[in-house]
Amino acid sequence: MATGAAHDVKTTCPYCGVGCGVIATVTPDGSVSVSGDPEHPANFGRLCSKGSALAETIDLDGRLLRPHIDGRPADWDEALDLVAARFASTIAEHGPDSVAFYVSGQLLTEDYYVANKLMKGFIGSANIDTNSRLCMASSVAGHRRAFGTDTVPGNYEDLELADLIVLVGSNLAWCHPVLYQRIAAEKERRPSLKIVVIDPRRTMTADIADMHLAISPDGDVALFGGLLSWIANTGALNYSYISNFTTGAAQALRFGAQDLRAVSRKCGIAPSQLIEFYSLFTRTERTVTVYSQGVNQSETGTDKVNAIINCHLATGRIGKPGASPFSVTGQPNAMGGREVGGMANMLAAHMDIENETHRARVQRFWQAPTVATRPGRKAVEMFEAIGQGHIKAVWIAGTNPVDSMPEADRVRAALAACPFVVVSDVLADTDTTRVAHVLLPAAAWGEKDGTVTNSERRISRQRPFLPLPGSARPDWDIMADVARRMGFAEGFSYTTAAEVFAEHAALSAFENDGERDFDIGAHAGIDAVGYEALAPFQWPQRRGAVTGTERFFAAGGFFTPEGKGRFVAPREARAGTGPLARLPAQEPTDQGFILNTGRVRDHWHTMTRTGKSPRLSQHMAEPFVEIHPDDAVQSGIAEASLVRLSKGPAQAIARALITNRQRRGSVFVPMHWNDRFASNARIDALVDAVTDPVSGQPALKQARASLASFNAA
Ligand code: SF4
Repeated sequence: MATGAAHDVKTTCPYCGVGCGVIATVTPDGSVSVSGDPEHPANFGRLCSKGSALAETIDLDGRLLRPHIDGRPADWDEALDLVAARFASTIAEHGPDSVAFYVSGQLLTEDYYVANKLMKGFIGSANIDTNSRLCMASSVAGHRRAFGTDTVPGNYEDLELADLIVLVGSNLAWCHPVLYQRIAAEKERRPSLKIVVIDPRRTMTADIADMHLAISPDGDVALFGGLLSWIANTGALNYSYISNFTTGAAQALRFGAQDLRAVSRKCGIAPSQLIEFYSLFTRTERTVTVYSQGVNQSETGTDKVNAIINCHLATGRIGKPGASPFSVTGQPNAMGGREVGGMANMLAAHMDIENETHRARVQRFWQAPTVATRPGRKAVEMFEAIGQGHIKAVWIAGTNPVDSMPEADRVRAALAACPFVVVSDVLADTDTTRVAHVLLPAAAWGEKDGTVTNSERRISRQRPFLPLPGSARPDWDIMADVARRMGFAEGFSYTTAAEVFAEHAALSAFENDGERDFDIGAHAGIDAVGYEALAPFQWPQRRGAVTGTERFFAAGGFFTPEGKGRFVAPREARAGTGPLARLPAQEPTDQGFILNTGRVRDHWHTMTRTGKSPRLSQHMAEPFVEIHPDDAVQSGIAEASLVRLSKGPAQAIARALITNRQRRGSVFVPMHWNDRFASNARIDALVDAVTDPVSGQPALKQARASLASFNAA
């Protein structure tokens, strides 16, 4: 019988970008329970339903426990020799851009760092992109256009300090539940706190709102352009902030100068409601505008982000306690991946791949034989290139693109035809592992050691509390081993995650003359003991600093070449074609309904983990489609009947949920279900691979699909 006492391990939740601190309590008999970490600044002890059920999802059922080659078990040497040899021979024959890595916001920063270093510095291609492209790339692009860098100006505390919180395209109650809990608690304590929800659907989040603006899909640029105009016309511009710290206001204001009725028509909100919202925004100094996937996952996602930021620059409400624009990320480490260049258009340590000085600095630090000189293929382009035969070897790490990418059937066909597909994952059977030539067993949450960064730039440790099962290994370790087998022994001799983190910290400070403000140089030289004890902190934390940085830009300090924040006019305005010329029609058309995809409260992504918990499945037991009652009548669909959504040859079957929370002409379908849980439920197979031209983020909320009763011929 086991003896001894239970022990606690402080770690971080592996689900959403809130990044809650978790305490895992392990008893001597090996059982695990989880609770919220009362000391973690993201959640102060709170957890949501998914976080509370973590212990129910860590069993080994379905785990990939040893490497496989073409479906047969293999040992690590055989598998990794094959991976290294096939990548090397493909590069030798077809060049560095014939290979690619597609990674994940689930990976830890150390995993991302090693993958990015191998691809950009040693292979010499920038063909590394991440499923975070699907989640927050438009916010990254919007930040870079406005601030010169990808920097979130505020933090979670601002939500409790604000007098007005505007939630745009964000169902916080289901997608970032602990932030919702913090806001709801503050609203309870201080009823004067105003909450405005801007969303075509009346989500759960709208239930605590003082105002819900049921905006037409993609009406955000017009709404915030109109707000900018209102701010100017009512004398609410902060001239001092604008003249001292910004550029481009005049052009953005010209775009915003629209008649209220025109704005109303474009965004589908009555003039009286617009006036109410605009007046509230204009008179409330402490305003935080939170935005998420309803903003990002759009053909105009980057313009939406900048339209929001413009309003905050115009009023000087940025980086001040309780006043800021605030992008909240979907994934647990979308932000960490951005820090170490885990996207096709970025370099490590927030440096710019198109900046020669930055490239030279990174190459010198890595002592790398080369460095990629131009951006690589972003996620959608990457799978297109695989389908076209330009990419001949791909390594997919910790993600399931056969279910999650738009036009998912084409992604599956592209991978099935690709000469060499490697998948490292924790599960043996996903829709993506089924098309792999080589499977590599990766360590899972609870086994992994490293760091993640949440939506408020806070870096926290994920610490292991379970032994590695079978022959599973951490992702950074697998990548480094392949690098060594490809002949890059010098740059990849790490033996621990702490060594990788220390190198990342040293690079962020390397030859940094103060040009950029992003280093975590305070942690350069960190040793294993320091890494183990590392407490959550917000980047940047520069050399000599004892704390991180809470907020940015309250008094300028932007990272553009001119040092000023930039107003950005939407690109349709710049092109002179008038704003929102391509707004989707609001009634069902012969092209079908607007298909809005998103999350439910208790599941995560393609359900590879949350699908293990019967408790979590009780909330929503099967795929459903939300339909407005009038649309249901018109389409002959009865409540709880099965309906068929289709787009060309692709189709998905789901249960009808008829509700006037849904806007006419649009339907909502959760993105989670796939062939492992319900046949014909892969909703992303119906979504066109249309992207925002600036960010490359797919428009996952604007597809079109036909809707019919399942029984209809
Ligand atoms: Fe985990 Fe997000 Fe829930 Fe926090 S809010 S417990 S990070 S899923």
